[in-house]
Amino acid sequence: MIIVMKSTAGEPEVESVLNRIRSMGLTPQVSQGAERTIIGVIGGESIGLKEEFSELAGVESVVSVLKPYTLVSRENGNGDAVVRVGPVNFGSQEIVVIAGPCSVESEDQLMRTAAAVKAAGASLLRGGAFKPRSSPYSFQGLGREGLKLLAQAREVTGMGIVTEVMESGDVALVAEYADMLQVGARNMQNTNLLRTLAKTGKPVLLKRNFSATLNEFLMSAEYLLAGGNDQVVLCERGIRTFVDYTRNTLDLNIVPALKELSRLPIIVDPSHGTGRSDLVIPMSRASIAAGADGLMVEVHPDPSKAFSDGNQALTPPAFEELMQAIQKIAAAVGRTVQAPRKALGVSGAHVSEYAKDRQ
Ligand code: PEP
Ligand code: MN
Repeated sequence: MIIVMKSTAGEPEVESVLNRIRSMGLTPQVSQGAERTIIGVIGGESIGLKEEFSELAGVESVVSVLKPYTLVSRENGNGDAVVRVGPVNFGSQEIVVIAGPCSVESEDQLMRTAAAVKAAGASLLRGGAFKPRSSPYSFQGLGREGLKLLAQAREVTGMGIVTEVMESGDVALVAEYADMLQVGARNMQNTNLLRTLAKTGKPVLLKRNFSATLNEFLMSAEYLLAGGNDQVVLCERGIRTFVDYTRNTLDLNIVPALKELSRLPIIVDPSHGTGRSDLVIPMSRASIAAGADGLMVEVHPDPSKAFSDGNQALTPPAFEELMQAIQKIAAAVGRTVQAPRKALGVSGAHVSEYAKDRQ
């Protein structure tokens, strides 16, 4: 950390800052310039003293040298993190596609969607049972019933389940059913929820809040790692801007920017990022080209009848098209995507690869 003194600061103020640094057991390194004094402090940032030093008399500014997030940082030398959800690896060479409906609505809707996305090559099934809706009058999700349907879909398809948990009190319940717990954009800075999730040890998909800076996003991830859970995947899902032709503005800049700073895998949600089904395939291609480790895409058998987010949902044939489109981009950037599988009868007996792998 570097403390820059005001040009008007006199010797007593500099002395008082130096004494304060020493009283904390730290070593100051003074650089006396013609205009002002600059003091280097070794070790202070790791114990969060920036604000304390900023308030001392005669101090103009305090500059951090280290990043405020240490565990998620690339600088810690631990290399790229690979997050495992059953047989699925985020952050490896493989592009992971999570697909499914915005909300779990019924057994028929979920099973049809699950079978279709599996056949097209999705690796994990998504679906909200607890829904964070902007209006209290909108569909709020099926709750526990929805979780049970998701577990049933896993049994049939073998795909692991990704679903949102909105509050600390629900973590134990949702963790009983889910293979990966989603923190929604609205809860990215719910530190209580993050602390509880840190203790589960289950993989977490952390979505960026629509007004969060890169720093705030990584600090939220740091909460999870600091609490003991290093199985964290980041997800860019669009931010609020003045743009009004899309629901959000998909900030693809953050993909390579995060890759440079952090060791965590990052995936992109082009469904919420655009809010428009016609833009989902092009932005999926762009996401993979920008270096994303995967995608999360909303799919519905009949988007016009969806209980939530129908405008941005792909139909099963459009999702198949998406998977084919990203195969080509993935190959061009040296990544692989799971190939389409044989169509799956939703009622037929099916050996679960996923369940086998978890035994
Ligand atoms: C979702 O993925 O279903 C969702 C609600 O997304 P977000 O939290 O990004 O709005
Ligand atoms: Mn949605």
